[in-house]
Amino acid sequence: MAIQRPKGLADDVYGAIFNKLMSLEISPGARITVDGLVRELEVSQTPIREALGRLEGEGLVVKTHLVGYRASPQITRRRFDEIYDLRLLVEPDGARRAAQRIGKEQMRKLKDTAEQMRKLASSTERSSYARFARLDADFHDSILEIAGNELIRDTLAHLHTHFHIFRLLFHARVTEEALTEHESILAALSSRDEVGAERAMRDHIDRSRHRLLPAFE
Ligand SMILES: [Zn+2]
Repeated sequence: MAIQRPKGLADDVYGAIFNKLMSLEISPGARITVDGLVRELEVSQTPIREALGRLEGEGLVVKTHLVGYRASPQITRRRFDEIYDLRLLVEPDGARRAAQRIGKEQMRKLKDTAEQMRKLASSTERSSYARFARLDADFHDSILEIAGNELIRDTLAHLHTHFHIFRLLFHARVTEEALTEHESILAALSSRDEVGAERAMRDHIDRSRHRLLPAFE
């Protein structure tokens, strides 16, 4: 796929490589050569190196001395469990706090994110899956933002948990079921139901964990 738009070229190149990584078109652990991407995307080395640096910061790519770039390996079962343990500790409580504090504009933005995810879920394009993962990350990040503890929010954001979790499986079920669960979270938040929001978030994270467990079988 050639990228022609000069405007926002760096972002487009980044997006193209991000999609390949998220949809497993570039397999975990696979070598990534700058020259290969130059040929494939028909752009110069500069935006590609820039994009790879950005992806390295997000933990999706690793740079090794002499070898060059590789796609990050799949997370281990242990790291998977650690991520979900952490999420279960902080996100249900975040949802409870968000239910106390959420404003009209914040509610509108959250609903908008959920709506964008719904539109993507029916698509079978690989790039849609990557976009869905990013929107899911935004959805959860926004709730933690509303909850108001910046340290908790930053900690989760820096782990890029959604990118690693979504890269475990490329599967439609991952997206469809999440939509219904998000609806429950939204419903609780919009009626400022603290207990309901906490429960809906815990339920969503629990179910997500079970949806992705087959990746380790
Ligand atoms: Zn979610």
